[in-house]
Amino acid sequence: MRIFEFIRPTDPAAAIAAAAQSKTAQQGADVRFMGGGTTLIDLMKLNVETPNRVLDINRLPLDKIEATPDGGLKIGATVRNSDLAYHPKVQKDYLVLSQAILNGATAQIRNMATVSGNLLQRTRCVYFRDTSMSCNKREPGSGCPAITGHNRTLAILGASEHCIATNPSDMCVAMAALEATIHVQGPKGSRAIPFGDFHLLPGNTPHRETLLESGDLITHVTLPPPVVGSKQLYLKLRDRASYEFALSSAAVVLTIATGKITRARIALGGVGTKPWRSPEAEAALTGQSANDASSRQAAEAALSNARPQSENRFKIELAKRCLTHALRTAAAS
Ligand SMILES: Cc1cc2nc3c(=O)[nH]c(=O)nc-3n(C[C@H](O)[C@H](O)[C@H](O)COP(=O)(O)OP(=O)(O)OC[C@H]3O[C@@H](n4cnc5c(N)ncnc54)[C@H](O)[C@@H]3O)c2cc1C
Ligand code: SF4
Repeated sequence: MRIFEFIRPTDPAAAIAAAAQSKTAQQGADVRFMGGGTTLIDLMKLNVETPNRVLDINRLPLDKIEATPDGGLKIGATVRNSDLAYHPKVQKDYLVLSQAILNGATAQIRNMATVSGNLLQRTRCVYFRDTSMSCNKREPGSGCPAITGHNRTLAILGASEHCIATNPSDMCVAMAALEATIHVQGPKGSRAIPFGDFHLLPGNTPHRETLLESGDLITHVTLPPPVVGSKQLYLKLRDRASYEFALSSAAVVLTIATGKITRARIALGGVGTKPWRSPEAEAALTGQSANDASSRQAAEAALSNARPQSENRFKIELAKRCLTHALRTAAAS
């Protein structure tokens, strides 16, 4: 790990000004914010991240969970994953988010990890984390050995010929289904980014993962007012019962009136290059009776564009069964 300067700002404007000196907010950034450090410090030890300067944001006033005037929720960037998952309003009105967070990592990591750090956690692709290997995400233009190599856990949706890495977050899948908004303050002012726009597909530029520019500080995330009476569930399938990333997961938020689905919000994890909202599944469900046939039909629609790699064809059927089971369980709850 390189020697770096460690700074603990107390004023967001000072933190933003310092981070704005970075040449990029993407791979290769020479200034990085640090929340819990559970992604950043890991990657610095591996020399995948090599910032000269680390700005610890834990003294900034960004650690509150508050109701918004419209009945939604405002979640500060440095709120710990555990505090969010166990917050009474989250457990009552945004259960899918609580379940998703508690399905991730371990209690110790969730106690350290922040909301903003979780939004920006990096892929677990083994080649990305090994600097002796080439990787387009780490070194643009160097190649993608995963395409012909070890790709069992990688993406079947949203991949490009330059990168097939999965986004590993559980929390983000629930936030996609809840239609969260990410709030950013930067050198040019503040902006609100709809969740679905925040993470980028790899395309020709897999090193560019989000809309963030140098100096952009995520300040908070907002959730819209809860949908009264909605049935919510996060289901995660993985190689072992804990301390493991998703092979496939599903976040479902359903409104059912007299047996018919009137509103569906669906997102998938473990299969996409970004947290994967599925408008196809939502359209297939809306207006249908909530039963096994409509659930399977929605799952078929969600995976209709799936493109497997050499080792992960099994994920297509796994993801279909995951979503079907999540829908069935949520509808019956
Ligand atoms: C062993 C292990 C197992 C795990 N298992 C899972 C799992 O099963 N599911 C899962 O979802 N996750 C899992 N994780 C990942 C974990 O959830 C993330 O490491 C964590 O959420 C990152 O949060 P952090 O606050 O520690 O981020 P940090 O490491 O502090 O930061 C991560 C990135 O976000 C940037 N950043 C942080 N805050 C801001 C901000 N406010 N504005 C702009 N940039 C910011 C940092 O610069 C850095 O690039 C696991 C991690 C480990 C180590
Ligand atoms: S899949 Fe993406 S992260 Fe993995 S080696 Fe290829 S370019 Fe790198």
